[in-house]
Amino acid sequence: MDPGPTTVAHSGISEMPTRRLHVLVVDDDLDSLVMLQVEVTRLGHISTGARDGAEALEKHQAQPFDVILSDWNMPGMSGLELCQRIRWRVSKEYTYFVFMTAFGDHAHLLEGLRAGADDYMTKPVDSEVLEARLASAARVVGYHSELSQRNVVLREEGHLSFEAARIDPLTQISNRLRLREDLNALYSRVKRYGHRFCAALCDIDLFKQYNDTYGHIAGDEALCQVASAIRSALRQGDTLYRYGGEEFLVILSQQGIAEARQAMDRVRIDVQNLRIPHRRSPAEVVTISAGVAEIEDMNGSHDDWLHLADDALYRAKENGRNRVEEQISIWDAGHTAPLASFTSD
Ligand code: GH3
Ligand code: MG
Ligand code: MG
Repeated sequence: MDPGPTTVAHSGISEMPTRRLHVLVVDDDLDSLVMLQVEVTRLGHISTGARDGAEALEKHQAQPFDVILSDWNMPGMSGLELCQRIRWRVSKEYTYFVFMTAFGDHAHLLEGLRAGADDYMTKPVDSEVLEARLASAARVVGYHSELSQRNVVLREEGHLSFEAARIDPLTQISNRLRLREDLNALYSRVKRYGHRFCAALCDIDLFKQYNDTYGHIAGDEALCQVASAIRSALRQGDTLYRYGGEEFLVILSQQGIAEARQAMDRVRIDVQNLRIPHRRSPAEVVTISAGVAEIEDMNGSHDDWLHLADDALYRAKENGRNRVEEQISIWDAGHTAPLASFTSD
């Protein structure tokens, strides 16, 4: 509906170019209605008439107006009620509301402003006053539409930075912030629906020596290749995160520990098959070790669960690297109480 900013006729009150407004004039008195509509059109705006509040509301709902100039006393829905209803309506566009009334008293002015009106004119309406009011209306409506356009841009930018804050810039996979958020959601699915998940913590073997031998930039490149190989080896529905420097966490959805261990062993082989040379590693190529743990307890926190995966990873390193280990029974692992007694977060 917005025809855009344009210069309209004016009598010298405002030297600023103003936008052409869509103005709804509401008056039960036909003579005043016609007179005002003619005046609004003469000032370069587009005018529409309504004979009472209900008709005005109907027209405004069909096609919102930039400005409503409304009489106060009308049969049926009054100007005051019209104003309140316009303000209750949730809308992207701003409607500048001006009361016109024969009452020049302060009480009416306050009541109108409290109902959400922007301005007030005493009848009979003076043409210069009308021009000045419409110039103010054009400024407010213009600022408002500029702000809502900027809001759209800000919302889009906000969404992009929200996503960027959750992506690791080097490997382009999700980071720990996203992991925290996903774990909360996932943990409630376990509690509520009894879904099964496993966590696999993967760590590049002897990566310090890799950096020392080939340099940090080559190390970065190897990290990206490993991340990408892990991602390609996973099923849809499994998720991958950069957990720390050369550590990755995989959440394997709807899987028990035996399946998860097998899946991670395939991932391990895929990484080895990248054949990234690493002359200080026994395999002579870059390899990973992984520890797998199943989420099976309703009362433990996800930190407890990740600790179990970390314990398993530690054993994979101890047992010679380039291998996958799974969580052992909590009793064998030396915990003093079963998982069920862990505190919930
Ligand atoms: P282990 O097999 O026991 O895991 O030995 P490791 O050498 O991989 O483990 P350690 O924790 O001693 O060293 C990890 C190395 O990973 C040291 C660190 O410089 C390197 N690293 C961590 N993040 C990055 C990174 O973003 N880029 C590069 N190039 N190296 C990284
Ligand atoms: Mg490490
Ligand atoms: Mg390592």
